[in-house]
Amino acid sequence: MDFAHFIGGQWVADSDVTTNRNPANQDDIIGTYARGGAGRVDEAVAAAMAALDDWAHASPQIRHDVLEKAGALIVQRKDELGRLLAREEGKTIAEAVGETVRAAQVFKFFAGEALRNTGDAVASVRPGVEVTIEREPVGVIGLITPWNFPIAIPAWKMAPALAFGNTVVMKPAELTPGCAWELANILEQAGCPAGVFNLVMGPGSQVGARIVEHPDIAAVSFTGSVATGRRVAVDCAANGKKVQLEMGGKNPMVVVDDADLDVAVGAALNGAFFSTGQRCTASSRLIVTKGVHDAFLDRLTAAAADLVVGDPLDAKTQIGPVVDQSQMDQNMRYLTLASEEGCDVRGGGLGNGNGFFMHPAIFAGATNAMRVSREEIFGPMASIIKVDDYDEALAVANDTEFGLSSGICTTSLKLASHFRRHAKAGMVMVNLPTAGVDYHVPFGGRKGSSYGPREQGSYAREFYTTVKTSYIAP
Ligand code: ADP
Repeated sequence: MDFAHFIGGQWVADSDVTTNRNPANQDDIIGTYARGGAGRVDEAVAAAMAALDDWAHASPQIRHDVLEKAGALIVQRKDELGRLLAREEGKTIAEAVGETVRAAQVFKFFAGEALRNTGDAVASVRPGVEVTIEREPVGVIGLITPWNFPIAIPAWKMAPALAFGNTVVMKPAELTPGCAWELANILEQAGCPAGVFNLVMGPGSQVGARIVEHPDIAAVSFTGSVATGRRVAVDCAANGKKVQLEMGGKNPMVVVDDADLDVAVGAALNGAFFSTGQRCTASSRLIVTKGVHDAFLDRLTAAAADLVVGDPLDAKTQIGPVVDQSQMDQNMRYLTLASEEGCDVRGGGLGNGNGFFMHPAIFAGATNAMRVSREEIFGPMASIIKVDDYDEALAVANDTEFGLSSGICTTSLKLASHFRRHAKAGMVMVNLPTAGVDYHVPFGGRKGSSYGPREQGSYAREFYTTVKTSYIAP
C-alpha cells in the first residue's frame, strides 16, 4: 500500500517513495511511503501558517477535545498499532503495545494541559496599571523525530505543540514513517482542522534541513543523534528559531557492594539490552564496586545469554532485531573495537533468520577511558567497569560528555541520597534501570545529551509557548 504526506488536510502522494521493511524479516514490506523534498515542506508550512491564527485562538475546549479523541482512538487500536510498530522498528510486541499506550496517555495528558494553561496577574509598580503574564503559542513548529520510539516521541512533541495552540510540520525518521502516518490519520479522524497538523516524510538532508531553515517555522524540536542535533541547533540559531534537542546518552548504572543483586542484575539486563539497546537512556556503562563485581558479572553474563533473541511478534521474544544494516555494521565495529581495546567480550553473536539479529554483548574488564565506554553505540552492548568504592563509582559515572540518565543500585539510603544529589544527569534512577520513564514529568538531560527546555509533563509548556507581558491602564 502507498502512504501519502498529510498537508493542509489533504493526502498528497509523491512519485518518489521509501520502502518500509521489517528489520526482523527483510521480505516483509510494510508499505511504500511518500518521499518528499524541500517543496513539500514549503507547502506544509504554508498550510500551517494559514491555519495558525484560528487554532491559536480556538477555545482550549476544542484543542482538548481533539487531543482527547486522538488518545482514545490510539487506545482502541493499540494492538494493531503496536504490531505495526514492532514490524517497522523491531522492538518486541509487548514493548511496542506498551509504547503505543504511552502515546495515548501523552495525548490525554496534554488534552488536560490545554485547559490548564494559566497565566499570572500582578500588581504594577505604577498606580492604576494592571500587569498580566500569559503564555501564547510560538507559531508553526517543526518536529524532527528518530526511529527508536516511532510513536511515543512524535506523540510527546505533537501533543504539547497542539495543546498550546501551535500548528505543526512533522518529519518522522525515514526508517519508521508508518507510526507517524497513523498519527496523522488519527488526528484527522479526531477532528483536527486542516493545516493544523502536517506530515512530510523524506530524508533528513532535504525535508529536515528545509524545516530547520524555513523562515516561517518559529521553533524546532529535534530528537536524534548528537552530530545532527548540533547542526540543527547551529542552523536554528542562524535562522533565529527556538530550538530543543534530545540527543545521545552513555548512561551509567552504578552497582555497589550492598546492592540487592537480584535487583541490580534485573535492572542492568533491562536497561542495557531491552529494546535491543536502542534507547538514548540505555544503561551502557555498568560501574561495579570490587566486592560484588565478580558475582554481578557472572550473573549478568548468564542472564544475558538466556535472553531470547528473535521475531518481535513472537510473544516469547525478549530482544528483537537491530533496526537496519547500517546500525548492525556499526554494532559489529564496536564489538571488534571492544576486543581491540582489551575487553573480554561475552556474547554478541549473530542470530538466525532473514533479519538483523544479534545477541547481547557484555564488555567485561572495560575501563571508562575506552572508546566503547565513551561513545554511544545504540546497540545491545554494555561495558562493565570495575571500581574500588562508591566515590570512584560516582566519579566514573559523571566522567562522560553526556548527562541524560544516571542510576545506582544500593540498599543504603545514605548512598542513594548522595548519588541523587551528585549525579550530573537530568534523570536519576535508584534500584531501577536508567531507561523507563513516566509521561507526566520532565524528560531530558544535561551536557551533550540535551539542549533547551525539557520535554514532557507540565515542563513541556516552556518550549511550546512564548511569554507575553501586558500592561493595561483601564
Ligand atoms: P538516527 O541515528 O537516530 O537516525 P539522526 O540524527 O540521523 O539520528 O536522525 C534523527 C532525525 O533527524 C531523523 O528524522 C533524520 O531524518 C533527521 N535528520 C537527519 N539529517 C538532518 C539534517 N541535516 N537536518 C535536519 N534533520 C535531519
